[in-house]
Amino acid sequence: MKKLIDKLEKNRNLSKEELTMLVADQSAENLQYLNERAVAVRRSVFGNSVYIRGLIEFTNYCKNDCYYCGLRCSNRKADRYRLTPKQILQCCRKGHELGFRTFVLQGGEDPYWNDERLEVLIGEIKREHPDCALTLSIGERERKSYQRLYDAGADRFLLRHETANADHYGMLHPAEMSHANRLRCLKDLKEIGFQTGCGFMVGSPGQTTETLVEDLMFIREFEPAMVGIGPFIPAGNTPFSGEKTGSVELTLRLLSIIRLMNPKVLLPATTALGTAKEDGRAMGIKAGANVIMPNLSPTDVREKYRIYDNKLATGVEAAEGLKELELEMGKIGYKIEITRGDSPLCINTHKKQTN
Ligand code: SAH
Repeated sequence: MKKLIDKLEKNRNLSKEELTMLVADQSAENLQYLNERAVAVRRSVFGNSVYIRGLIEFTNYCKNDCYYCGLRCSNRKADRYRLTPKQILQCCRKGHELGFRTFVLQGGEDPYWNDERLEVLIGEIKREHPDCALTLSIGERERKSYQRLYDAGADRFLLRHETANADHYGMLHPAEMSHANRLRCLKDLKEIGFQTGCGFMVGSPGQTTETLVEDLMFIREFEPAMVGIGPFIPAGNTPFSGEKTGSVELTLRLLSIIRLMNPKVLLPATTALGTAKEDGRAMGIKAGANVIMPNLSPTDVREKYRIYDNKLATGVEAAEGLKELELEMGKIGYKIEITRGDSPLCINTHKKQTN
């Protein structure tokens, strides 16, 4: 297995069979070796810096009905909220003072936030913080809508593909949602010029070693600037509320494989990883991740943005806990950077690089 890991590090191009062996492997010793190699590669690209993003969960209204997500429209128990532009700008101001230079606007697919409203908001954020990058994570839209948001100043877009396998996609989503459209969105985002992120949950119902290998091959081919992965965690009042939480070990294994396959990728140690296991985010960094996204939403809504249960939003998960996070990262040899932290894959081509 070590030979396979070395081969992945050297030429990144393992066959389907080889990737399958690597994903299905269960040995703790091999996992440790994989994590070590991923950290070495991550260091060669990013040194010991960790990039931070201030996550603003700006609406939990959603028109979709994804089986795994607590924000799904059929969940009548969800306590819905929508931040005002003024509140969002306030979050950015506070984030900027704390040292954030990237803001991530994430939400359900909320029709209230049409192109006009988003354009105004994006314009205001970028005018007030020209030194900051703005990331959107607001789901599927038409190409011309993505183009308008890009032209308004948004820099990056996160849209997890959720699974590269169309049948598996059908097990996670209602019939109105299509795998083909998800992939169309990702392609459009990248073509328009966004630093684009895809990703998936680890341990989602119906996932197999085979579908995971397809995910890895999809990532290799798509060459995203960012990849978000974290364990699936059951959410109350959803069809999957009784399912098992995804494996932390497998998530760490996949983080390392993704780092070795795509050395320059921006790879967050996600909140889901920190929720599934205490210390999970530090473990993610030690598996090759290089980004952390603390929560910058107003404290009274954090509880309501419940994509899954028991989601962490305090302590080092909270933007206010940055000092604590710095200490935690310092202990394992990393340093939080006050920078936009753009993708090294996009750095020369980007439209509005200001630093
Ligand atoms: N509406 C946006 C943002 C969705 S929330 C969009 O469609 O992109 C961001 C991510 O959280 C999702 O893409 C999904 O992969 C993840 N997520 C949703 N429910 C989850 C759960 N129960 N456990 C773990 N991750 C979940």
